[in-house]
Amino acid sequence: MQQSKGGWPGENIRKAGSGGRTDEKHRLLRQYFGYDEFRTGQEELIDSLLAGRDVLGIMPTGAGKSLCYQIPALIKEGITLVISPLISLMKDQVGALNEAGIHAAYLNSSLTPGQYQKALAYAAAGRYKLIYVAPERLLTEEFLRFACGARIAMVAVDEAHCVSQWGQDFRPSYLKIPDFIRRLPVRPVVGAFTATATAEVRDDIVRLLALIRPGVLTTGFDRPNLYFAVQSPADPYRAAVEFLENHPKDSGIIYCLTRKGVEEVCANLIRDGFSATRYHAGLSDEERRRNQDDFIYDRCRIMVATNAFGMGIDKSDVRFVLHYNMPKNIESYYQEAGRAGRDGEPADCLLFYRPQDVVTNRLFIENNRDNEELDPAARQEVMERDQQRLRRMVGYCYTEGCLREYLLAYFGEEAAGPCHNCSGCDSGMEPADVTREAQAVLTAAAYCGGRYGAGVLADTVRGARTEKIRRFGMDQCPSYGALSSLTADRIRRIITGLQSREYLMVTNDRYSLIGPGPKASAVLSGQEKVSMRLPREETRPRKAKTKKASGALGEADSSMFERLRALRMEIAREEGVPPYIVFSDKTLAHMCIVRPRNEEEMLSVSGVGAYKYEKYGEQFLACIRQAQERADEK
Ligand code: ADP
Ligand code: MG
Repeated sequence: MQQSKGGWPGENIRKAGSGGRTDEKHRLLRQYFGYDEFRTGQEELIDSLLAGRDVLGIMPTGAGKSLCYQIPALIKEGITLVISPLISLMKDQVGALNEAGIHAAYLNSSLTPGQYQKALAYAAAGRYKLIYVAPERLLTEEFLRFACGARIAMVAVDEAHCVSQWGQDFRPSYLKIPDFIRRLPVRPVVGAFTATATAEVRDDIVRLLALIRPGVLTTGFDRPNLYFAVQSPADPYRAAVEFLENHPKDSGIIYCLTRKGVEEVCANLIRDGFSATRYHAGLSDEERRRNQDDFIYDRCRIMVATNAFGMGIDKSDVRFVLHYNMPKNIESYYQEAGRAGRDGEPADCLLFYRPQDVVTNRLFIENNRDNEELDPAARQEVMERDQQRLRRMVGYCYTEGCLREYLLAYFGEEAAGPCHNCSGCDSGMEPADVTREAQAVLTAAAYCGGRYGAGVLADTVRGARTEKIRRFGMDQCPSYGALSSLTADRIRRIITGLQSREYLMVTNDRYSLIGPGPKASAVLSGQEKVSMRLPREETRPRKAKTKKASGALGEADSSMFERLRALRMEIAREEGVPPYIVFSDKTLAHMCIVRPRNEEEMLSVSGVGAYKYEKYGEQFLACIRQAQERADEK
């Protein structure tokens, strides 16, 4: 991960921190979280908050934003308030903190009035270092009374993009945060954190949260442990099943564009014997909560969901995210795909696309109810911007090069070169002369005079015998069937390539009709040749690689890994917490490699802190010892 140039405006805060504090933050990192080193950006943000300077931290999902306020909260005298948009997020984080031996609580509508009173009383008595609170609570009389009487040292605003209308998750109650802060007797230092990188959102956060001369830190957006792949399978369900069979024990999410899609895919998976559950806005609160918990607690391995699922999900061992349909823009895609592999272990992000997805997304954009309070001009602007974003998303599906390069470029970052860890790099794209193919497609486009869309053009050159083709008279077109030896995917890629090179152009945006573009005649007359980078012809697009957290482990290690996993599950059940909160997959895999024999060796494992050692160390040591003995007997 790289830190972007100019991340810190103004003076260098790191030098302002005293040496003693530096030691303390490393000590806390080790003791409570079990990690040896800070990740990129964390230290700068922590130092700044400790020095009393506001910050805005922009880091991708999984980068470790929580630590950036949790560690200062432990060092600073007084209480840190963490403002968070979702109950599930608060629950997860507070659970993880308590599990690590840090006193924390949340205040939100999931508590009964009695529980709320009790939590407030404990808070006032100074029992908690961190208190997570829903933004709606801040200006209530009760909460204000508590906050004004307590010593609030810091306010951390998590998911800070919720304050911006331009963000995807606008929450009006976030706008109350500065009011609340103004009412406190002493202004605490304020830290804001988000994974949304666009300039509009960033400016909104600084302005609307009234941050004072904040240090703005943006880390690189690359997630090197994620493998990106796109496919356009003829039978998406079969392809999904094949993909899942390559991930036999892994937990993962399947995103569908519509509720109906979720229902269908989930029902089919259950019918076919997969452990799957579902989530979308049409289900009751009760069922949503239950299904989400089943997934988080590893009682169900596959979550099939619409984009309503995920913002509150910090589950760190999600090993794959499969997009069954193309999402509406790259921001959503990267955020959803980014829920895979938060623990830093390899994970797969596979995207299926078909032309129909573009149509569905366009309908969503045109009928977007969220913008109804905007005036017509602003609404038009938002709609055009959304359509532009959708085009970039389509571009991703058809990119001829490295997918990671495309994603990073979208977020304004330049990649160092092809990543060799995506289907774009793996599929063996190579330059191909497609002049003959281009002529066939352009002939069809000219024949129908731009009255039809890409699907009809593709079916025409493939020689499809459909009712529609006959009705449209396209079976009379001179190039009907000219490309019958090519796959549908290859033809689609060629058509998109012709569009992006202006040999074809859109004649009607609403219905995506296309006709010959300004440069078509030169190709049709044979004056101009066309070449594109396309997948090597004999290979079908490759499946995403199968890699697991334990992927680097040998056979003996894998059986130990499974034992440790089973022990973790047992403990998680007893304690009523999600397994990954006990220890992450990464920590278990590391144990299999280190094979600790005593406390000291166990503490050297990444993710094992002193407090967790106290609680679980012995059990895991015993489990490792047994597994080892059994292996030696063989
Ligand atoms: P974000 O909020 O940025 O999406 P989180 O704060 O939820 O990310 O952290 C993601 C994961 O990374 C968590 O499992 C966390 O324990 C882990 N993590 C955070 N900081 C470090 C670190 N310095 N070393 C190793 N793992 C870390
Ligand atoms: Mg977070």
